[in-house]
Amino acid sequence: MAFALVLNKLDEALKKTGCSICRVEHEKAKHVIETFLWENVTDPVVRKPINQAYGFCPKHTKMLAAVEMSTSGPVLGIHFIYELLAKNVEAELKKGLKRKNQQNPIQKILGKLKLSNQPGKRFPGLHPKRICPVCETVQQAGENFLSALFEELNQGNQDLKTTYYQSNGLCFDHLRQGLEHYAEPYPQGAAFLLKDTVERLETQREHMKSYIDKHNWANDEHELSLDEKSAWLRTLTFFTGLPAEHFTIQIEDF
Ligand SMILES: [Zn+2]
Ligand SMILES: [Zn+2]
Repeated sequence: MAFALVLNKLDEALKKTGCSICRVEHEKAKHVIETFLWENVTDPVVRKPINQAYGFCPKHTKMLAAVEMSTSGPVLGIHFIYELLAKNVEAELKKGLKRKNQQNPIQKILGKLKLSNQPGKRFPGLHPKRICPVCETVQQAGENFLSALFEELNQGNQDLKTTYYQSNGLCFDHLRQGLEHYAEPYPQGAAFLLKDTVERLETQREHMKSYIDKHNWANDEHELSLDEKSAWLRTLTFFTGLPAEHFTIQIEDF
């Protein structure tokens, strides 16, 4: 993606709630899944990493199902992928079962007595050879956006600084990731983000402290300022990347 386009998307994401990098990663995941479903679902090269990972992670499996169910009638893409995955796992299990039955009698007794010193080797296979392919692509995209953010802030892009001040800022994970990879090439960018995050945390902590104190003294909740009422939401956003509107009374069913 061209650098200008990256900055444009970053700017848009910063103007919405939650961590901007989490948001662009989420959008990228949706795009990757849509492209995969419409263009590559039968392509063996694209399907190889899916098979090696035993499918997608739970979050992206949910997204895959939602994308396909919301845009097409039959869920054929899911059938193409998961019929083969079921077949692969079934074959591995059968192979393992055969080996287990062929185990020598002493190994069987040691196994039953839990005395085998290599329990992990009693049932070979079933270890993913790679992570969820959507996670892999999304992480790469996140790195590109993070690097662009650090680079631009390093060069003193004032518009971006202003937009960043008004945003929810980076989440903890992306801040850590960014500092690990880009603090060295972009020290001014890292310094800006560090200072800004420290200030945000200080303010939020003070507001949360006030909230606790006022409740401890059984004061009327109406005496709380708007900032004091909402500092906990901004802090949860910092630690999770999720927009404040995700924190509701709704407990999702499993
Ligand atoms: Zn994030
Ligand atoms: Zn994933």
